[in-house]
Amino acid sequence: MGERLKGRIAIITGGTSGIGEATAEVFVQEGAQVVIAGRSEERGKKIVERLGAHACFKYADVTQEEDISGLIQFTFERYGRIDCLFNNAGGRVEGNLETITMDNFLYGVKLLLGSVVFGMKHVAPIMKKQGSGCIINNSSIAAIRLNQGGYLYSAVKAAVTHITRIAGVELGPYGIRVNSISPGAIATPIFLGGSHVADSLGEEVQERKMGKLVVNLAKATPLPRAGLPRDIAYAAVYLASDEGSFVNCCDLVVDGGRTSLFRE
Ligand code: NAP
Repeated sequence: MGERLKGRIAIITGGTSGIGEATAEVFVQEGAQVVIAGRSEERGKKIVERLGAHACFKYADVTQEEDISGLIQFTFERYGRIDCLFNNAGGRVEGNLETITMDNFLYGVKLLLGSVVFGMKHVAPIMKKQGSGCIINNSSIAAIRLNQGGYLYSAVKAAVTHITRIAGVELGPYGIRVNSISPGAIATPIFLGGSHVADSLGEEVQERKMGKLVVNLAKATPLPRAGLPRDIAYAAVYLASDEGSFVNCCDLVVDGGRTSLFRE
């Protein structure tokens, strides 16, 4: 067990699958106490069983402000402080230029941007009182290159990267660092249609599809392997630890060099 996050209290939204699940694992290995948030109680509880007393699960739908404030309140009441909030939950957003509907639009903005905005809104007062804190927002290389994600997804992730910088300037004087991570293509259930679609496939089919995905994604970057959830988890550990204590308003791109294959 490492000590890079020893004794720190962290919340990870979307901690029930993919990047969030891997981050919860690595945070616990580095000594943090982690609140895993998500909608899938079944997956959340299984992960907590595996990680032990250093993790707990709290249901939260990040499209609902009251769930976000409840999650932050729950964590503060239970542990007395919050050192890190990883706004990670997300998923695909349907619709292109001509097919987008108002419902898809509002859902996409709530899921990908509202989750970040309201997470920061409710955690900031607690971190300000502490005089310290670290917020990490999961963005995407779709925010900085074309054709790396869907139509609305890409635009909304660009807003996530930008609002991160704005918040980092506003909260920096209180000792709160706000950074984003922009993952490249990472092998997670998002490529199978999302965590809930993946659940419906059953374990065997899911494993087979993930195996194929890992092989295919290895062709997508200059490095000869797929991006894995742990690659993002280690970036989050760096940002949340003392090693990242002078890093603020930064967008950390973790993509095996994929963005360099495309023009800005
Ligand atoms: P994933 O395996 O499908 O996981 C998505 C997570 O988000 C799940 O834990 C899911 O929780 C949670 N989630 C989705 N909708 C939610 C809601 N309304 N309320 C609460 N939780 C919700 O996908 P992933 O690849 O790890 O994605 C994590 C983040 O990384 C997303 O923000 C995604 O945009 C970003 N990202 C991924 C990639 C990639 O290539 N994988 C690249 C760039 C950025 P439940 O299952 O419990 O509902």
